[in-house]
Amino acid sequence: MSVTDTQATACSGGLPEVNRERGQRQVFCGLAGIVWLHRKIQDAFFLVVGSRTCAHLLQSAAGVMIFAEPRFATAILQERDLAGLADCNQELDRVAAEILERRPDIKTLFLVGSCPSEVIKLDLAKAAERLSDAYRGRVRVLDYSASGLETTFTQGEDACLTSLVPELPAGSAGERSLLVLGTLPDVVEDQFARLFAELGIGPVHFLPPRHATDLPPLGSATVVLLAQPFLGETARALQRRGATLLTAPYPFGIEGTLGWLRAAADAWGIPAARLETVTAPAIARAERGLARQRELLAGKRITFLPDSQLEIPIARFLQRECGMELVEVATPFVDRQLMESELAWLPSGVRLSEGGDVDRQLDRVRTDRPDLTVCGLGLANPLEAEGLRTKWSIELVFTPVHGFDQAADLAELFARPLVRGALLRV
Ligand code: SF4
Repeated sequence: MSVTDTQATACSGGLPEVNRERGQRQVFCGLAGIVWLHRKIQDAFFLVVGSRTCAHLLQSAAGVMIFAEPRFATAILQERDLAGLADCNQELDRVAAEILERRPDIKTLFLVGSCPSEVIKLDLAKAAERLSDAYRGRVRVLDYSASGLETTFTQGEDACLTSLVPELPAGSAGERSLLVLGTLPDVVEDQFARLFAELGIGPVHFLPPRHATDLPPLGSATVVLLAQPFLGETARALQRRGATLLTAPYPFGIEGTLGWLRAAADAWGIPAARLETVTAPAIARAERGLARQRELLAGKRITFLPDSQLEIPIARFLQRECGMELVEVATPFVDRQLMESELAWLPSGVRLSEGGDVDRQLDRVRTDRPDLTVCGLGLANPLEAEGLRTKWSIELVFTPVHGFDQAADLAELFARPLVRGALLRV
């Protein structure tokens, strides 16, 4: 992609101005999402239809999962496949058959598209239909694209969950239920389930579920609360099936988690005093944990490069609860519908950019010299070599960071490189 324009636009309602930038970007593609999705949905298999590059990316991104039973693989389209798409389809059917025979525990098979041209020519939706017919009653076969041409790394989850929406069973019109949207580590999901139960909110379902055979019901009585800010397409697909979306901040830090729970409590008519009583012990624990990290972070200057789409809520947490100074907050997309509550919490005058032009952004980092830059893996090493401290944004999706009990861990992710930098200087 080439640089085409830079323009500033004002959000409505006194929200911060967004500077739109377009140009070259350096981000992982949506295949990275398989690493946390396969860990969450325990009876799903992700078959990437791609090239050797895709296989290498998955292997290195998933290197951290060395002890897990792998439930992902890459069907590599060799050059001979280019001769005819029929061969590719046969090859795909053969690989799928092999996997399903070897792994009878698999109940959902995702065919994941990538960006090589031979994959783009292959109709994966048709292939999923064909395989669904072949394995009907035993395995559900779905498809989505994680191509680097269409997705940044967190959008892979959005595309995956969107493909699940048509599969959700119809919920009964009368019974109101809460659907929490976005992958959460099981331990965090359990904490939230306990809080909702204590508040008297329920039934509560989570998407994605731990088992693909256990899909939550969906209908006009479904109320959706987003746990991750990068799931706009899934949220809109749920709305099209009648669900109502709650406006809330994201559950990062004490303030965000409390606001998130309050949105659900208000929808269920739970009195404010009850919310206060139920959350008080967890808030007290979180405040104690955060105090130490705040000492390390307060007054430090931070820049976010556009990568994970978590930038705005995390910046809000670091500025309001940890006392950091926001030099620049750049994010791949600003989805105003999903960011309404978060944008209102950013300080006025913050430098907020959407999209990306990696060269201009790096120039600004070099001029600003923030204490910490949050960025993708590919940009971290060159910046470190210039004496600038960095934090990999991908850690935000591999680490439990949501909720009261993880607030201090979230802050510590940012304090650690500063402490290490100070030690190196000594
Ligand atoms: Fe690279 Fe595209 Fe494969 Fe992602 S999907 S690893 S960007 S070739």
